[in-house]
Amino acid sequence: MGLDDIKRRIAAAEERAGRAPGSVTLIAVSKVQPEGRVTAVLDAGHRVFGENYVQEAQGKWPDWRNRWPGVELHMIGPLQSNKAKAAVDLFDAIHTLDRMTLARKLAQQADQQGRSPHLFIQVNTGDEPQKAGILADELPVFLSSCHDLGLSPSGLMCIPPEGHDPLPHFRLLRRLAHDHGLPHLSMGMSADFESAIAEGATHVRVGSAIFGDRA
Ligand SMILES: *Cc1c(COP(=O)(O)O)cnc(C)c1O
Repeated sequence: MGLDDIKRRIAAAEERAGRAPGSVTLIAVSKVQPEGRVTAVLDAGHRVFGENYVQEAQGKWPDWRNRWPGVELHMIGPLQSNKAKAAVDLFDAIHTLDRMTLARKLAQQADQQGRSPHLFIQVNTGDEPQKAGILADELPVFLSSCHDLGLSPSGLMCIPPEGHDPLPHFRLLRRLAHDHGLPHLSMGMSADFESAIAEGATHVRVGSAIFGDRA
């Protein structure tokens, strides 16, 4: 299992960057992984997981949460507005707040359900037309609109363009978070989590390096 290896590499990256041990949260991304691989990681004591699809997560986590208490579940995939209700019910954090219609739904559900997941705003750092996320320029207005709705996002998230050096994207996200006083940075995946940690990531989203390739 790759969990121990990844935990060691995170600890080493924290130390190299002069960051406190344990300052980076490892989100084990379990989407579409065979059940046995995920339960092995639960058995090993890990409790923080990421999922991309509301329906898939609804199908497995309520039961697993009963069997392994203390699970913290992060939504890291695109979230349709009509799934906001289920998402607020199921997830402890949502990393993909990327538009006002979704912000309104989440605010409504937080009111109705009396619980609000931690929110990360997804930023389209590469300005890619096909990719979700708000543009860096839009962040100040988007944030203040969130505040008007009673939402308090605590961080930013990005997925750098494929095939490009992720560093400038990590740096941009870090600067934006700093400028707006947001403490959390969700960045870095299997291929680049160590450089993300060097650039200040507080949450890394690692799937295949822990569980193996997805089918
Ligand atoms: C699937 C996914 C990951 C994990 O990717 P790996 O390369 O398997 O580590 C991280 N973040 C997001 C947004 C994902 O969709």
